[in-house]
Amino acid sequence: MPSLDRLQTTFLTSAPGLRQAPRDEVAEIAFAGRSNAGKSSVLNCISGNKRMAKVSKTPGRTQLLNFFDVVVPGEDTTHGRIVDLPGYGYAKAGKQAQAQWQRAVNDYLNRRDNLTAVVLVMDIRHPNQAFDKELIQWANDSELPIRILLNKMDKLGFGKAQNALRQLTAEYRSHPLFTAQIFSALKTTGRAELIDYALEQFCAR
Ligand code: GDP
Repeated sequence: MPSLDRLQTTFLTSAPGLRQAPRDEVAEIAFAGRSNAGKSSVLNCISGNKRMAKVSKTPGRTQLLNFFDVVVPGEDTTHGRIVDLPGYGYAKAGKQAQAQWQRAVNDYLNRRDNLTAVVLVMDIRHPNQAFDKELIQWANDSELPIRILLNKMDKLGFGKAQNALRQLTAEYRSHPLFTAQIFSALKTTGRAELIDYALEQFCAR
């Protein structure tokens, strides 16, 4: 598999829950993160489709599971999918709405057979918060690969960013499928590494 600069993505569908999700025929990588950690910016950064994040930010779609096909140039078939999960901790959302999409996310994570890996986006200045820890623990218990993006590294110096990465990696040393990297959606730092990871995970399935 050649290295790619960008992933070619096309919007497939949005679903309020697992029942409305497309058939589970190709490998999926789910993107999760606290609202404002930069998940949409990360998706935009790795996608050749400038509108990718826009789709997910469309009012009414922010609380849905958004599915994107990933196509590799020169191959006719869909290579895999990226699934943009609703950001958690969105303060303006009512309790009922939050409960509804948390159920959708939980269902998706626990019951989606073609789920291959999770990418969890964090703000490097506020990493490893309660829900992050829960998701990391869950991935470990489920034997599912999880990749942490310490995003917005441009807000810290290189040394501090490396320290944050070291600290997090040390904390989850005992999790065999845990990996982490620094990232900046703004500066595109770490983009090639993330794309390689995604392609590897698609192929591993
Ligand atoms: P989401 O809610 O997780 O989808 O987050 P967004 O992608 O909407 O980003 C939230 C805010 O963080 C926006 O103002 C972005 O411009 C900003 N942001 C996202 N990624 C980066 C980054 O790598 N560096 C910096 N400095 N700002 C970022």
